[in-house]
Amino acid sequence: MGIEKTLSIIKPDATKRNITGKINSKLEDSGLEIIGQKRILLTKQRAEEFYFVHRERPFYNSLVNYMISGPVVVQVLMGENAVTQNREIMGATDPKEAKVGTIRKEFAKSIEENSVHGSDSLENAKKEIEFFFTNEEIIEN
Ligand code: ADP
Ligand code: MG
Repeated sequence: MGIEKTLSIIKPDATKRNITGKINSKLEDSGLEIIGQKRILLTKQRAEEFYFVHRERPFYNSLVNYMISGPVVVQVLMGENAVTQNREIMGATDPKEAKVGTIRKEFAKSIEENSVHGSDSLENAKKEIEFFFTNEEIIEN
C-alpha cells in the first residue's frame, strides 16, 4: 500500500473513437491523478519490445499490429495503491468478464481491442514508466 505510480496506456481503439477524455474521467473519478501524459505512435519495434513477455502467446503478432494501428496515449498515474486501483477501474482483460462500471466493460470492443493497458505489479510499473517517460515529463502536484 501507500502512494504508488503506475503506467496506463489508452489504446488505439479508444483514441480512434475519440473517447480518451471519457477514459481519463474514469481514472480521475477513481482518485488517480494523471501526472504524466503524451500521445504517441508506437513503432513496430517499440510495440514488440513493450509486449516482449507475451512473445510466445498466439495473439502476440496481432496485438503488436493493433497497438501500432493508431495513436496511443501513455500516462503515469499516481495515487494510493495505484497499481491495483488502476487494474480495478480497468476491469478484466475480456470485456465480457469485466465488472459494471469499469473502463473495459463500458468501452472495450473485444478481448484484444480492450481500450487500456495497466501495469500488473509495482516492479513492472517502474520498468514501464521508464520505457516511456523521462523524469522531466512526470510532474507531481
Ligand atoms: P491485461 O492487459 O489485462 O494485463 P494481458 O497482459 O494478459 O492482459 O494481455 C495483454 C493484452 O493482449 C491485452 O490487454 C489484450 O489487448 C491482448 N490479449 C490478451 N489476451 C488476448 C486474447 N486471448 N486474444 C487476443 N488478444 C489478447
Ligand atoms: Mg498485462
